[in-house]
Amino acid sequence: MVFKKEKVQRHVVLTRQVTDGIITWAKTHHPNEAILVLRGKTTKEKIVVDGLVIPPFVESGPFYSGFAIHDLPYTIPHIGTAHSHPGGSNRPSLEDLNHFSGFVSIIISHPYEDETMGAYDRNGNIMEIKVVDSL
Ligand SMILES: [Zn+2]
Repeated sequence: MVFKKEKVQRHVVLTRQVTDGIITWAKTHHPNEAILVLRGKTTKEKIVVDGLVIPPFVESGPFYSGFAIHDLPYTIPHIGTAHSHPGGSNRPSLEDLNHFSGFVSIIISHPYEDETMGAYDRNGNIMEIKVVDSL
């Protein structure tokens, strides 16, 4: 009997519309951080993001958005968050991981393109992103 040691890694599916929404939101707030709430559903194999919600009462600043997510009302159904890193890489900071909410954290770094977007799980492991035109 063979035991599979590796856990099946989920991948993240984003619609084109969601991807463009994250990019536009990040660009609009540059050089400040921007944050969005992700809506969608999860299965064993994937996390499907099909909508974005602008979180209420978010104060945006160069280093603020990581804190703001802590105050998210849990009445908003969400599967994760997306936020921007105006400088540096799209790797999650320690603070990002401490404030992790949901199943996925999407981070997009300047200059805010598909290629500068990363998706991470609760432990900071990178997940593959697939952008689809429609679901
Ligand atoms: Zn961050």
